[in-house]
This record gives sequence, structure tokens and C-alpha cells, in this order.
Amino acid sequence: MNANKVIPEPDDLNLELFQAIVSSGHLCIQKCRNCGHYSHPPRMYCPRCFSGDYSYERVSGTGTVYSYTLSQHSAEPAWKDELPFLTVVVELDQGPRVVGAAKIDEPTAVRLGQRVRVVPETRTDDFAYLTVVFESEQAS
Ligand SMILES: [Zn+2]
Repeated sequence: MNANKVIPEPDDLNLELFQAIVSSGHLCIQKCRNCGHYSHPPRMYCPRCFSGDYSYERVSGTGTVYSYTLSQHSAEPAWKDELPFLTVVVELDQGPRVVGAAKIDEPTAVRLGQRVRVVPETRTDDFAYLTVVFESEQAS
């Protein structure tokens, strides 16, 4: 990865989430301790039961392609080496949707519903890029 890329500096609940991801080395998602509902992005109160008691739980990162877009141009010079790349909305098996980036050989072969895995790539103590890995890549 190009070292000149802007590294986001999350705050509040997003900071809690990314610190959990970085410290565990795995994707984590906010989970309600009262009813077990997973939420993303993290919220102060559970959207199902309104409890404010939550934790960040390690999850497998597996899910399906809910939506995606293919970037073939970038106004940001630091990302030009990555072109073309996909920005993918992944619906995790736990329910929430997360956004990640994918670099694959045949981006036009992506299909909605395709099985993928979201993997964090740590950049700082407080942030990790979320990379989307396609199942066919995992097998090789
Ligand atoms: Zn709840």
C-alpha cells in the first residue's frame, strides 16, 4: 500500500470499534449484551431493545456482496496505484452491512450475493482498512 494515503482518525464509538479490531486483529462488530443484536456502524443504544449495554465481538467477516462500485479513476494520487478497485458493501452473516475495498483481477466478474470475507488491515493503533476477499481468492 502507498504510504501517502490519508489514514482516517476515528472518534467516539468508531474509535472504540477500530481499537477492538486492531487489538484483536480480526473484524469486530458491536453486539448488544441485552438481546444479542449486532449493529454497524456502532450506536449508543441498541436499535432493537434500546439497551446501552454493548461490547465489540469478534466475527468471522464472512458474508455476501450486497452492492459494489468499480473505481477506474481516482482524483486522489495516493490511490492511483490501486486502480481499478472495488468498493463493496458486504452484508455480514450476522446481519449488519460493512463497506470495504477489494482488489481483484476480474472486477467485472463480481456478482451480487457472492460469498466474501471482510479482513482488517491494521494501519495505526486506531484504524484498519477493511479489505474484501473473494472466496475464489481464499481457495488459492
Ligand atoms: Zn439489544
